Amino acid sequence: MAAEIIDGKLIASQIREDLKKDVEKLKKDGITPGLGVILVGADPASKSYVTAKERACDDLGLYSENIKLPEDTSEKDLLALVEEMNNNPKIDGILVQLPLPKHIDTDKVIMSISPSKDVDGFHPESIGKMLMGKDTFLPCTPHGIIKLLLHSKVQVEGANVVVVGRSNIVGKPVANLLLDKSEGGNATVTVCHSRTKNMAEITKKADILIAAIGKAEFITADMIKDGAVVIDVGVNRVEDSSKKRGYRLVGDVEFNTAFEKASKITPVPGGVGPMTITMLMYNTVESARNR
Ligand code: NAP
Repeated sequence: MAAEIIDGKLIASQIREDLKKDVEKLKKDGITPGLGVILVGADPASKSYVTAKERACDDLGLYSENIKLPEDTSEKDLLALVEEMNNNPKIDGILVQLPLPKHIDTDKVIMSISPSKDVDGFHPESIGKMLMGKDTFLPCTPHGIIKLLLHSKVQVEGANVVVVGRSNIVGKPVANLLLDKSEGGNATVTVCHSRTKNMAEITKKADILIAAIGKAEFITADMIKDGAVVIDVGVNRVEDSSKKRGYRLVGDVEFNTAFEKASKITPVPGGVGPMTITMLMYNTVESARNR
């Protein structure tokens, strides 16, 4: 059986069309949603994510401030910049691109962002509210995954979902959203990580398998149940001399073999990635609406 491709690009573009209308309405009321993006250092992957976010703001007609700081920026200067953005009435959302250089305390920076502008959904207040099922900014990648499942008409309620990965930005929050008593939730969720024993036995029971590991093609077809829905969050650069840039992007799932086993599957690129940026735009527009 060949899987149906879950086209993240298409679903993201449909959501962005709706967002465009929301932005036009807000602009008529004199409000232009604004996003402040801070990049510290020159990590190539981070740079490309930030460029994609800038482009998404332009496409939607959002105001954006993009600040690029050198690698040796002090924690104090970064915190001062966040504070400036916290107080800037034109900015509805603040995004500090992670990872930050090692000399900067990431948690301190995340906690310095005003919860009212925490469009990444990483602040403990946002996470706490999410855990309690309260209205808040949801973290973008997990929220994007739920939207992908809903748009693809995947039955989440009652499904056995296995999440591989327990990071604060993907694994844990997506597991929580899948567990939530809401649309796109009510699943039975198992979370695997690097200490999990006999992982294939667990993943093979999943109706929906979500891979957020950061290891190229780690999930192989023999770890997937026939007809499962596979969501591949991983973005890994693999050397490839046939490509002009010297590498290609692959997910955490061995796509070609998984494609034969799954009923639906997300590609990399073009699956979860476009949804992450779209949900960032969604949160920024929501924040502007709360202004
Ligand atoms: P992370 O913080 O490095 O977490 C990786 C998780 O995978 C950890 O919980 C780790 O377990 C687990 N893991 C590692 N090796 C394992 C193994 N052999 N068996 C089972 N579990 C294992 O990564 P992340 O930030 O969650 O990101 C995961 C991937 O998603 C990366 O490729 C990243 O680039 C990608 N990503 C994509 C998007 C997007 O928009 N498409 C957004 C965010 C992240 P332990 O906790 O035990 O160490």
